[in-house]
Amino acid sequence: MPELPEVETVKNILKPLIIGKNINHVEIYYDRLIQSDLEEFKNKLKGQKFLDVTRYGKFLFLHLTNDLVIITHLRMEGKFRFTTESNPRIKATSALFFLENNEYLAFDDTRKFGLMYLSDEASYKDVKMIAKLGVEANKVEENDIPDLIKKFNKKKPIKELLLDQSILCGIGNIYADEILYQCKINPFTKGSELKENDILNIFKFAKITLDKAIKLGGSTIHSFHPSEGVDGKFQEELLAYGRSGDTCPICGTTFHKEFLGGRGTTFCPNCQIDHSLEKAIGITGPIGSGKSTILNYLKSKGYFTLSSDEMIHDLYREPAIKNKISRILGSQFDIDNPALVKKTRQIMIASPEKKKAVENYIYPVLEKKILQNFAQNEKIAIEVPLLFKAHFEYMFKKILVISISKEQQIANLKNRNDDIESSKALNKDFDYKKLDKVKIIEADGNFEHLYKQVDEALKD
Ligand SMILES: [Zn+2]
Repeated sequence: MPELPEVETVKNILKPLIIGKNINHVEIYYDRLIQSDLEEFKNKLKGQKFLDVTRYGKFLFLHLTNDLVIITHLRMEGKFRFTTESNPRIKATSALFFLENNEYLAFDDTRKFGLMYLSDEASYKDVKMIAKLGVEANKVEENDIPDLIKKFNKKKPIKELLLDQSILCGIGNIYADEILYQCKINPFTKGSELKENDILNIFKFAKITLDKAIKLGGSTIHSFHPSEGVDGKFQEELLAYGRSGDTCPICGTTFHKEFLGGRGTTFCPNCQIDHSLEKAIGITGPIGSGKSTILNYLKSKGYFTLSSDEMIHDLYREPAIKNKISRILGSQFDIDNPALVKKTRQIMIASPEKKKAVENYIYPVLEKKILQNFAQNEKIAIEVPLLFKAHFEYMFKKILVISISKEQQIANLKNRNDDIESSKALNKDFDYKKLDKVKIIEADGNFEHLYKQVDEALKD
């Protein structure tokens, strides 16, 4: 669906083509296109001349002689087409303006959502669909701000509020995703939970994004072209929209796509944190560092606890998942068959690409499984060795990263009779991100020392 930059591009293309041209007559092939009186529309336009084309938000206005104004909205797929061909009508044509000298202005609309409404210079701005529009999203002035802040103070997701044309107008699905990504605001965050600074940032990035898109002729997405053979260039600049499955250029997390009010919404869960999800305590660290000890301690303190390793093992036993992983590996996968486990390990070592493909598949499944527990449990602690690798940071309010000396680590592993193969991991440094919510726990001392640090780390 064309948004402000695309409609601006349509206006700029249309203007030189039709200004000064006389209308002989108009034929309408889809009556519901005309939302004012149909007969009046056809009669009054006879013999008029196009004087100007203007735009407000996603609406276009065709100004004519006799003070007439056609209000029009392209909606999903409406397109103006100027032509001199002898057969100007195509299947999608909803209206045809017969101009002088065998020139035509067609309005083609495969989806039939577009609209036209005949008004006049004195009153077109008072027609309801125009009167209710808010400030243009790239034209917010200092004195609009107090009123807009009030309008954003609603218990609706900010993405939905950005699409509400009565608050800011001109933004649709593409630019809403782009603006929120640049502002680092989660699309599901309620307007009422935003800080004033967040809202000011939205105005700032709405202007930057829309103005840049106008300069580049808008975005050519799906089937929308502003005109025959004309493509915008902004789609090459899109950072978030349509990039689900790609990784975030800032933090490397895979973009999520979820539906919000029926619209596909793409965002980075780590750059655009949903603070209502930031509730669990995460425990991570290298193998044999004592993650389970801390998990059990938190269990004794009333936390609902989860082990991501156990969860993954359960997932691996589900037939659909087993099949999918077998397909990725090109070899039968079965966690309960030691010979096959060994084979899988060899395949993973030989092919980092296959290992990555398995991870890219299983992490999002695990992620959903973990989040399912968030609704029922207030206090929740999760042991996640791969927390940073899987980019799960966003779901934790505190992350305990265990630091341990190699000697202690070997002693721990011997204690639990772990196979020595896993001790290969000892040579690797444990990678973590230095976030504010990350707390380092030194695991070399006695239990008392360990628990004291955990208590300290969990204090707000
Ligand atoms: Zn990110």
